[in-house]
Amino acid sequence: MDKCSFCGRPKDEVNLLIAGISGHICDFCIDQAHNIIKEELKPEKDFDLNDVKLKKPVEIKAFLDQYVIGQEIAKKVLSVAVYNHYKRLGQEDSSDEVEIEKSNIILVGETGTGKTLLAKTIAKMLHVPFTIVDATVLTEAGYVGEDIESLLTRLLQAADYDIPSAEKGIVFIDEIDKIARKGDNPSITRDVSGEGVQQGLLKLLEGSIVNVPPQGGRKHPEQKMIPLNTKNILFMCGGAFDGIDKKIAQRLNTSVMGYGAQKAVDNVDRDNILQYIAPQDLKAFGLIPEIIGRLPILSHLDPLDRETLRQILTEPKNAIIKQYIKLFEIDNIELSFDLGVLDFIVDKAVEFKLGARGLRSICEAIMVDVMFETPSQDKTSIEITKKFAETQLDKISGKRLKAS
Ligand code: ADP
Repeated sequence: MDKCSFCGRPKDEVNLLIAGISGHICDFCIDQAHNIIKEELKPEKDFDLNDVKLKKPVEIKAFLDQYVIGQEIAKKVLSVAVYNHYKRLGQEDSSDEVEIEKSNIILVGETGTGKTLLAKTIAKMLHVPFTIVDATVLTEAGYVGEDIESLLTRLLQAADYDIPSAEKGIVFIDEIDKIARKGDNPSITRDVSGEGVQQGLLKLLEGSIVNVPPQGGRKHPEQKMIPLNTKNILFMCGGAFDGIDKKIAQRLNTSVMGYGAQKAVDNVDRDNILQYIAPQDLKAFGLIPEIIGRLPILSHLDPLDRETLRQILTEPKNAIIKQYIKLFEIDNIELSFDLGVLDFIVDKAVEFKLGARGLRSICEAIMVDVMFETPSQDKTSIEITKKFAETQLDKISGKRLKAS
């Protein structure tokens, strides 16, 4: 009788026996082998500082370059900040008097320009737990919404509840601009959504022991809190800060009065005012000074021009077009795009003002019928022409795309 070549169990003692060229394997051994593979290939759980030490800022940036197009300044600033952050972790126990302070980061840039992508890519490179939270859901304790501690719940979950690993993770807080207080004046009445939340965030950002509800939310009042030290958690905040360009322009105009002023103002690149952003603009927008102080690394993202959008379509390691080609490859279909199509997609993305985010929805609209039909046909190649793309987009009303 056939038997498993690994454990020796005969066929009638197992559920399934699979034959190979010169042996057999039973379902038990497959299961066990699978677990060994899972365990062996698991990303390094306990954070290994040496791993990061290997990557110098130049190498970190080179890694980012594979995924993020343009945004040279932000990439450089981030590479240095991340390098220093993890270097600081290595210095923790030194008795030296010079204490390197934590360098949390704030990124300002229009929506869809790559803020989240940058944060995600860094976490991917470092193999540290990473979570994205939206600042708009946060409220002060006692109000409707999520407690501020809940953003650490997500990090704990991302770390599989491995506390030491979570304590070295990265939290990306999106839409930080939405918790700005309205106006530059401290509010007299309680500002539930704004200043209170900023105050609450402070203690997380600066580093303290926070009691985190492991399940999050208030639905589980009986849960035992897990104390988490945020001292080494890197916080990255991102926001579009709509309207901050006016505050920057105002500051630039007033600070360059006097001799030579006109020349200085003329030199300002009006199409990309964000590049001049400074901490005082964040204050003018409504972030409290304490928060700004806890986010010492400030950088901006450039708006995406046509050329960049075109590159985003095809160049990053996991570019959208590469993804479609791969999807079809799995079905043994060779997918190609006429050059005109790519320019057409970029045109539409610019027209709909959707930034890079629009590229994806436009591609989906063009590709949906093809993806629906071809798996049932026996084609070996498909070419997407500009005419086809136009017809597909016409079918799905441009209006709906704009709204999505
Ligand atoms: P943000 O956080 O700034 O609103 P995201 O990082 O979420 O924007 O970007 C949305 C999508 O657009 C991402 O999934 C990414 O594929 C694409 N994208 C945006 N900016 C870039 C860029 N500079 N390089 C490559 N892809 C980008």
